[in-house]
Amino acid sequence: MHQSLRPSSLVPSGFVVESAIHDADTTTITVRASKDSGTCPSCGTVSRRVHSRYHRRVSDLPLSGRSVQLLVVARRFRCDAVLCGRQIFVERFASDVLAPSARRTGRLDCIVHHLGLALGGRPAASFARRLMLPVSNDTLLRVVRRRARVPTEPLHVIGIDDWAWRRNHRYGTIVCDLERRRPVSLLPDREPATAAAWLERHHQITVVARDRGGGYAEAITRALPHATQVADRWHLMENASRAFLDAVRKTMRQIRTAIGATTINPDLLTAAERLQYEGYQRREEINAAILALARDKVPIKEIVRRLGHSRQVVRQVVRGERQDIFRTRQSSLDRFLPWLDAQWSSGCRNGADLWRRLKEQGFRGSLRVVTEWATRRRRAERADAENLQRIPSARTIARLMTIARNNLSKADTVTITAIENGVPCLVDARETIAEFHAMVRNKNDVGLAIWIERARTSPVASFASGVAKDELAVRAAITLPWSNGQTEGQITKLKLVKRQMYGRGKIDLLQARLIGVPT
Ligand SMILES: [Zn+2]
Repeated sequence: MHQSLRPSSLVPSGFVVESAIHDADTTTITVRASKDSGTCPSCGTVSRRVHSRYHRRVSDLPLSGRSVQLLVVARRFRCDAVLCGRQIFVERFASDVLAPSARRTGRLDCIVHHLGLALGGRPAASFARRLMLPVSNDTLLRVVRRRARVPTEPLHVIGIDDWAWRRNHRYGTIVCDLERRRPVSLLPDREPATAAAWLERHHQITVVARDRGGGYAEAITRALPHATQVADRWHLMENASRAFLDAVRKTMRQIRTAIGATTINPDLLTAAERLQYEGYQRREEINAAILALARDKVPIKEIVRRLGHSRQVVRQVVRGERQDIFRTRQSSLDRFLPWLDAQWSSGCRNGADLWRRLKEQGFRGSLRVVTEWATRRRRAERADAENLQRIPSARTIARLMTIARNNLSKADTVTITAIENGVPCLVDARETIAEFHAMVRNKNDVGLAIWIERARTSPVASFASGVAKDELAVRAAITLPWSNGQTEGQITKLKLVKRQMYGRGKIDLLQARLIGVPT
């Protein structure tokens, strides 16, 4: 159905357009209420007797790129009720359309509020200018504060946690309604007294999720002794893992001994040497093939094509420039290697000295052959020493020890087996922590008391006594569905808002922007 556009449909409902004029960037629309009567605010009597008229100037939503001013012709009515003390009253409009003494229409105020919530004062103000909305930075912040929604629903399950105004300097407290999944209050610090004062005003709260630090626990116990406290599940899991890591750290000396015993592995060393030797053999085969072709007067270009080796390699081989130290030099030493090895092991490591004494044994080779052998030997020993020191960090060991055995590489398996055999108390610690994790994961606290008893004599005893000290809250964390994870999410949102405010935000404004968001 088509309807022609009436000017009155452009202004807030309940008003009728009388006239409109516009200049370069402002449209001024004169309007009056469409109703012909007013209701006395004191006695509720409806009156049609107009006493006088006056003008109210208010801002409205922009129109076609121009900001809009409404010139409202408002009336004063006479109240005729006999017993009403009021003789004259001014006409009122629906509060969501135009609130008493407001400077903006309800619909503009709403946009301004949302701009302020989304962008904060200064960025919102410059964006508002673009949108032809006549509001300043201060106005935006004022609107955000004024319209801040104060949650009125009764609170039953809350999460409480701290957040950083400035890291390591100043902290505040956030309270979240875990049932409705939204923040309800920001407190200016994280003192137990402040939290307790707030909690005392909300006696209907029955469950409070909080972290495992002492402050909030103390406040809750004081202010809401009847409430169930819930330790944070994520932190419980995390602390348990950390307890195991600490156990690994404490036994690093034993671990080093246990791993060291496996690293000097003669099989591995011969394997390394075998690799080296295989490489040498491969090179020898290549050289032989090239030389065979060269002897048959095959041109270099053709050899490159047939064998697929680079031109440079082929040329080097043909010219006899590619030396392979491995055998040609060492072969003359082969016969004497057992003797050399014995000398080396007994501490005689000077190449020249070895060469002189080797000559007495019948060696015909040059000094260089022996000094190069000594260099290689020294290098190999250094590599071994480095291998020995390559012991994984405590963090890596803790991780390797707790992941499934079939996800480990072969080398890691060897390492972990060595640790498990050499430091059996770590196996005990790992099992204790795994049991705790399983209880949390399966939401089953039946074995907790026994677990605490047993864990107290294990390498993770300090974690166990921490759990024992906070046993009720830990039990609640295992069995109840509530957790502070949600609160952490709200803190992330809070940080975002805070950053937009360049860290200059006052707490009421921060709260208005975080909590005032209409759902
Ligand atoms: Zn009245």
